Amino acid sequence: MFGVAACVSWKAKRMKFYTIGCLILISVFLAQTEVCSAAPKKAKEDAMLPIVYSPQYDISVLGIENLHPFDTKKYGKVFGYLKQTQGLSSSQFYTPLEVTKDLLLTVHTQAYLNSLKKSQIVAEIAEIHALAYLPNGILDNGILKPMRLATGGTMLGCDLAKKHGWAINLSGGYHHAKADAGGGFCYYADIPIAAFQLLKRQPAGRILIVDLDAHQGDGIESICKKETRIHVFDVFNQAAYPLAFELQKTITYPYGLLPETGDQVYLDIIKKELPQAIHKSQPDFIFYNAGVDIYAEDPLGGLSVSENAIIERDAIVFREALKQKIPILMVLSGGYAPAGAGIIGKSIVNLLRNVIFD
Ligand SMILES: [Zn+2]
Repeated sequence: MFGVAACVSWKAKRMKFYTIGCLILISVFLAQTEVCSAAPKKAKEDAMLPIVYSPQYDISVLGIENLHPFDTKKYGKVFGYLKQTQGLSSSQFYTPLEVTKDLLLTVHTQAYLNSLKKSQIVAEIAEIHALAYLPNGILDNGILKPMRLATGGTMLGCDLAKKHGWAINLSGGYHHAKADAGGGFCYYADIPIAAFQLLKRQPAGRILIVDLDAHQGDGIESICKKETRIHVFDVFNQAAYPLAFELQKTITYPYGLLPETGDQVYLDIIKKELPQAIHKSQPDFIFYNAGVDIYAEDPLGGLSVSENAIIERDAIVFREALKQKIPILMVLSGGYAPAGAGIIGKSIVNLLRNVIFD
């Protein structure tokens, strides 16, 4: 080998440098193409995943939050489950910033934001009346700040989904928040705020919001009803909160279900109707509100869907988006059974192992 190397002519050396140069240029081009592509990237050990989480997502107000059936610590539990079962470190997740007041004002009224400085209003939205007796600063730090971080997380998730083809915010999906009012433990309309920012950057874009939380997404529908570039696919228990019948008329693809619907009817709707809705709407981006309060043991959802069917549901939605190369951002939304966090964790692991990196 030594002898052969010594005999390489200058011309051959020039050719070698030229070839190496070309390879570097091709590599740079391919790397840039990959960044712009919506196709999912292969997971690498120690590489960051497009999953957004903040240790401050969990809601905590001196333990009083436990008076609501909402598991306000589910975000940290899902994060812990993913770390533990997948051998991930905290540094492999993205951390959001709080949404700014200016961005909140792109959807919410100043009067509504001012009203959140009254403990009584914060307590009514949380449906925990004991909170009304606490100083507003404690409520702001324990409830509103996590929600502002969650909204920042949904916005960051949009950028990550556009870059990687998919992303998950381990909070968000507060779909009962309206421009001028909160409700059902929802303070800030994270999906509409993020959706309008996407449309600001891409005015010709089209967005599909797939809302599969057990409850009708009345806040999203109220805010987006006049925006023709945003379509909503909403499957909900028609006998449960919020019973917003007028707003149901504004849903592009409404599926009001009877209580105790069960796995087969539920999954049939998702399998048959979602691909058609995507085909009709031709979205450039999908928000997926993946509430697990459809679960059979959930005290508020009432749709009697099993754990396996929830995992299957999430896989169907992701497969459809990835197949059609439409960036998808999943947010957690509701889920009130103690088993909820575990189901979300298992479903995300299934997405990572069998759908995204299949
Ligand atoms: Zn719900």
